[in-house]
Amino acid sequence: MTDKQCPRCSLWSSDTALRCDCGYDFETGTIEESYYKDIEKKIKTRNQTENKKYLNWFAHIILLIVLCLVITCAPYLFTPCWILGCE
Ligand SMILES: [Zn+2]
Repeated sequence: MTDKQCPRCSLWSSDTALRCDCGYDFETGTIEESYYKDIEKKIKTRNQTENKKYLNWFAHIILLIVLCLVITCAPYLFTPCWILGCE
């Protein structure tokens, strides 16, 4: 196994590497987007969707709690005091 040097950024990569960190593709000799960026993007989008899912779930719980509170408190809140006799 011999290392190969990237002609673009002179960084040494292992012989098995298909693409340099800078994005230089050893197979095609073209500059592609770095694998690192691809992976970062994937992680970011996955995190965003997970965050959205979590927020959605959280919003639903809050909504449920508020709904329960409203249902429990509604009779007291909307019944005039003279009916309850709480003066
Ligand atoms: Zn490179």
